[in-house]
Amino acid sequence: MRIQFLGGVETVTGSQHLIEAGGRRVLRDCGLFQGRRDEARKINTTLRCPPNTLDAVVLSHAHIDHCGNLPMLARGGYTRPIHATTATVELAAVMLRDAARIQEQDAAYLNQKTNRRGIPAVEPLYTSADAEAAIKLFQGHRYGETIEPAPGIKILFQDAGHILGSALNVFELAENGKKARVGFALDLGRKDLPIIRDPETMRDLDLLVLESTYGDRLHDDVARAEDELAAAINRTLARGGKVLIPSFALERAQEILYHLANLFAAGRVKKVPVYVDSPMTVELTRIFARHRDYFDAETQALFDRLGGIMRPDWVHFAATVEESKNITASTVPCVVIAPNGMCEHGRILHHLKHGIENPKNTILIVGFQAENTLGRRLVEGTQHVKIFGDDFTRRAEVVTLNAFSAHADRDELVSYVRQVQPRKIALVHGEPKIRAALATRLRGMQAAPVLEPPTGESVEL
Ligand SMILES: [Zn+2]
Repeated sequence: MRIQFLGGVETVTGSQHLIEAGGRRVLRDCGLFQGRRDEARKINTTLRCPPNTLDAVVLSHAHIDHCGNLPMLARGGYTRPIHATTATVELAAVMLRDAARIQEQDAAYLNQKTNRRGIPAVEPLYTSADAEAAIKLFQGHRYGETIEPAPGIKILFQDAGHILGSALNVFELAENGKKARVGFALDLGRKDLPIIRDPETMRDLDLLVLESTYGDRLHDDVARAEDELAAAINRTLARGGKVLIPSFALERAQEILYHLANLFAAGRVKKVPVYVDSPMTVELTRIFARHRDYFDAETQALFDRLGGIMRPDWVHFAATVEESKNITASTVPCVVIAPNGMCEHGRILHHLKHGIENPKNTILIVGFQAENTLGRRLVEGTQHVKIFGDDFTRRAEVVTLNAFSAHADRDELVSYVRQVQPRKIALVHGEPKIRAALATRLRGMQAAPVLEPPTGESVEL
């Protein structure tokens, strides 16, 4: 019996683990590695285990760094089931179709540029057909359900409290009369996040494989998110401005809707139109609406009162370009939620182009901003920015809310280890320095031996 740390080990993208028992093999997650183009291409095109040797794949959640390379696996000939929760199955389908579209558009764009120079054409990493081939393999399960995709490998799904449908998995392995229980907590969420329930506690683990993304830092308290959001919106509305929120389509956009519903219902913010300007966000929100049984009790009660997450009279879902243009042109105070979350592409750029020079407006940053993105420059207070190649002077207020994070921070990771009390811990899914900081802290607790495996290494059980 062994676990091999194949991807997303000393980095936070491209998550992939191989679990073996009695000659049977299950892959947990097949995430897309995101980084510099050449490096990413090399990593994503290298399948680290031959697809035809796998008995099953289990998927933790619908984020691209966990599901985004499943189409490559299908392209490589994998035809067995991909197990996930019912919500993840639907969300991941939307995410994979979008990822394939981006791969195809990227390749087309590069080829258009290089054709003129006689350089051979690049192929997309994978195509829409590959994505559809992977989507066909999905099988949906509920939290609390245990499956046995191969003799000697049982897998339990528990709530990870990270995004809708996200799962922790306990693998119960058996080989030659020996048994081992391995739990995977990546990605691990936080208590009291909006919409979803809190992370469940895995029990009786010989090995806990744990993420360390934020293993050296603390987030602001979840409870502050709504207060800070209210303050920023009220300030903007008092000026007669618009609130522009660059947001990831999955989870963060729906969280903002949840907070707005709460604030409007309590009369803490004056009701104004809220525009969700993105076909993909609309599609994902519809999936949320269909999975109200994944919501926590508060969210169920709130949206029952409002008739559903899609139904309040103040929310408007813009799918077409025409609808989007009308929102941009309007000067009525409102809230606009639009992707991309880091202001790199997508409809938010049109809203910024028209709104960034207006001092009445607010740009509200609610997510992680990677280096070298427009979002990061805004957070850092840059005054002069380029949008679609044109120069703009930022006069809108920029507000960064740090309470929004779907990942456990240092103290939350430590407290999860205290709850679970595993006999051994393997830290993955973190930059080496950050992972080492968390390892030192956990070792200080003398709770269990802590491993920091390099990429590709295995641990025998
Ligand atoms: Zn995630």
